[in-house]
Amino acid sequence: VGVTTPPVESPGALPRPTVAIPAGRAAGVLGRGLVDPADPVLAAEDLGLGRGDGCFETLRVLAGEDPGEQRRVQGWDAHLDRLERSCAALELPRPDRAAWAALAAELVASAGSGESALKLMVTRGLPGSGVPTGVATLAPLPASALRQREAGIAVVSLSRGTPADAHADAPWLLGGVKTLSYAVHTAAVREAERRGADDALLVSTDGFALEGPTSSLLWWADGALRTTPAGPTGILTGTTQEALFAAAADEGVRVEAALVPVVDLTAADAAWFASSVRGIVEVISLDGVPLPRLPELTARWRRLAGF
Ligand code: PLP
Repeated sequence: VGVTTPPVESPGALPRPTVAIPAGRAAGVLGRGLVDPADPVLAAEDLGLGRGDGCFETLRVLAGEDPGEQRRVQGWDAHLDRLERSCAALELPRPDRAAWAALAAELVASAGSGESALKLMVTRGLPGSGVPTGVATLAPLPASALRQREAGIAVVSLSRGTPADAHADAPWLLGGVKTLSYAVHTAAVREAERRGADDALLVSTDGFALEGPTSSLLWWADGALRTTPAGPTGILTGTTQEALFAAAADEGVRVEAALVPVVDLTAADAAWFASSVRGIVEVISLDGVPLPRLPELTARWRRLAGF
């Protein structure tokens, strides 16, 4: 008795994962609209898949007070500006902001009312096509984000493997570009967790604190709110940090970008990690050394940054 292979069906009938899709999730494709979050949306040869060649943005969607209310996406313009800069650095076409806004609105309207994370992804698409693929997903706020807002985070320093000025005159290293190639970033978080911490602080080989794998570093010292400088360091300029610094400066707070030796950070009056979805979280220890917490400042930064 011969074995017969089943007939090849159309792409619409590709096998679906058997996992149940939790509530509050949605997905969409530019030029196509909403799709089932479990449906395949990339061609096998898409360069975003094989090469991580593309860029993304993760945005916070605020919880809706009333059913049917249009929920607000925080910092839309700043995120789209950064997506545009990432695409320019990757020599990808300029994103169609109106198309992304329409797709995002569809996703937000289609899924739940709780605080959520909206992710916009652009890949280089099929080799030689010159046509990027655009995919968006919406998912509920991870439970870890809520927990870490309450409890703060223990952080360990991990080497980034390059000096602080590694990105000077080397734009091909894609410093400051939010590329899809985040495997190193997630590996750093796993290593931090293996060491019993919640998150990592990436450090240059010459000893300077840079950023978290998915967050900006903020600290309070000598009466100034500081973060690390972009440019030659290659760190990503955070939209949360930028919004906070602008609002804090308006209230007369001294804000500065400065390189800090990681060994000096434990002498700071307080430190935080800032990012769009998790918000502003207190760094409660660095490499096992407890850091002071200043809850009044944490509350103030959150108010100023819209959390
Ligand atoms: N730095 C890195 C490396 C990031 O990946 C992120 C966000 O994911 C941030 C900083 C914080 O940026 P934002 O505040 O825009 O979320």
